[in-house]
Amino acid sequence: MSVHKAVRTPADMPVSGWYAVLPPPPKAQVLRGRYMADWVIVGAGFAGLAAARRLSQLVPNDRIAVVDAQRVGWGAAGRNSGFMIDLPHELGGENYGGSRDHDLKQIQMNRAAIEFSASAAEEFGLEPYFVRAGKIHGAATDHGLRSLREFESHLVGLAEDFRSLDAADMKGITGTDFFIGGTFTPGTVMAQPAGFIRGLAGGLAERVKIFENSPATLIETGAEHRVQTPEGEIVAPRLILTVNGHLESFGFFKRRLLHIFTYASMTRPLSNSEQASLGGERHWGLIPADPMGSTIRRIGDRIVVRNTFTYNPSMTTSEGQVEKIGHKHDRSFNARFPMLNGAGMEYRWGGHLCLSLNSAPAFGEIEDRVYVAGCCNGLGTVKGTLYGMLIADLAVGTEEPLVADALREPSPSTLYPKPLMAVGAPLRLWAVQRRAGREL
Ligand SMILES: Cc1cc2nc3c(=O)[nH]c(=O)nc-3n(C[C@H](O)[C@H](O)[C@H](O)COP(=O)(O)OP(=O)(O)OC[C@H]3O[C@@H](n4cnc5c(N)ncnc54)[C@H](O)[C@@H]3O)c2cc1C
Repeated sequence: MSVHKAVRTPADMPVSGWYAVLPPPPKAQVLRGRYMADWVIVGAGFAGLAAARRLSQLVPNDRIAVVDAQRVGWGAAGRNSGFMIDLPHELGGENYGGSRDHDLKQIQMNRAAIEFSASAAEEFGLEPYFVRAGKIHGAATDHGLRSLREFESHLVGLAEDFRSLDAADMKGITGTDFFIGGTFTPGTVMAQPAGFIRGLAGGLAERVKIFENSPATLIETGAEHRVQTPEGEIVAPRLILTVNGHLESFGFFKRRLLHIFTYASMTRPLSNSEQASLGGERHWGLIPADPMGSTIRRIGDRIVVRNTFTYNPSMTTSEGQVEKIGHKHDRSFNARFPMLNGAGMEYRWGGHLCLSLNSAPAFGEIEDRVYVAGCCNGLGTVKGTLYGMLIADLAVGTEEPLVADALREPSPSTLYPKPLMAVGAPLRLWAVQRRAGREL
């Protein structure tokens, strides 16, 4: 038997705009007393709910329980920008691409995950939160434009569809003349992340028991695993951990996971006259040509800006940090949309990303009947779903060929020594974000 005590549990704050604009969720079911199950999953983000849904398809008569420390959709799963991207999305590179063979495999895997989510959207009536709209990469500088055209050549090599956009096309879509060019790729799904993940949990609730506001504080593994929460426990012979960076809080993958935060602000609803002065299309999602630039989404009468990465090994951010970075959002917003005269932001938030130095996921069986799927390197809406569904296949022992591909991927590599990380990681982030220039 081994015991893993959580040295911290998540407490994301403040509320994300995506969550706040939804109707309030039904009352949380908190875990109280002992619950016996065949499977226990810790973490109800993209990975946890994909694992739960896949298990419910593979072993429909088994009792499946999921616990989350917070409300479903309150964590990163409901805080992200909602780009479910089918193409390679390598944040560490200059133009998102990697090597050809690697990228072809990534595309196959990403699309399998997107189709799994699409079938959930159809099954649970989540189409309003899951729209096959494609995404735009937008360039604001000559350097950005050059890297977009390189990205396009890379897409030609991968035989992938795209459309090159010039400054006039970009203005027609976004309403602003900030962007000098762009690339449209059709395969990205644009999600309302909190709506989608909450709807997924709501749909699964008929066949999976989901406990919220129930942080796992201690895990004992053995013939029967035991997951302890402040008011209860779940006992089950099989355990799946889908807590993303919080794997490290239980002592797993120590000094292998990079805890990075990124931040977003959402405007108040724009008035009809503001929308008229902006022009452009009512719904679009734009990724910066430089991965360190600003992601912008227009969702009808609101605009969402996301930028800035910080290194937070404590796995928390503060209201002060969110507020300070909010000023950068305001600057980026005003530079792009001067016609909106600084329309105010109604919501600001930050959220936890788990990266590894070698962009590798945490995936596999780490102790007897203890499985993990996490560390999705910034594309967790897709990769979380992918590794979540594949971990269920691995644990049940199906012949799903993508499981072998996932097992062939390397493990997260060891970080540099702590003092080096403490100085080096913020410095490196500062340098690459500075390089983004006007793209930020
Ligand atoms: C501002 C922002 C923008 C982003 N934009 C995008 C984007 O556009 N596209 C994209 O693909 N990704 C994006 N991401 C990243 C994406 O949100 C994550 O990669 C994704 O949520 C990871 O999914 P997951 O299920 O692995 O982990 P999470 O979504 O983090 O879920 C893990 C869950 O585990 C729970 N948990 C942790 N510890 C415990 C415990 N001890 N007990 C019980 N529960 C626990 C947490 O509460 C959480 O709900 C963005 C992230 C942020 C913050």
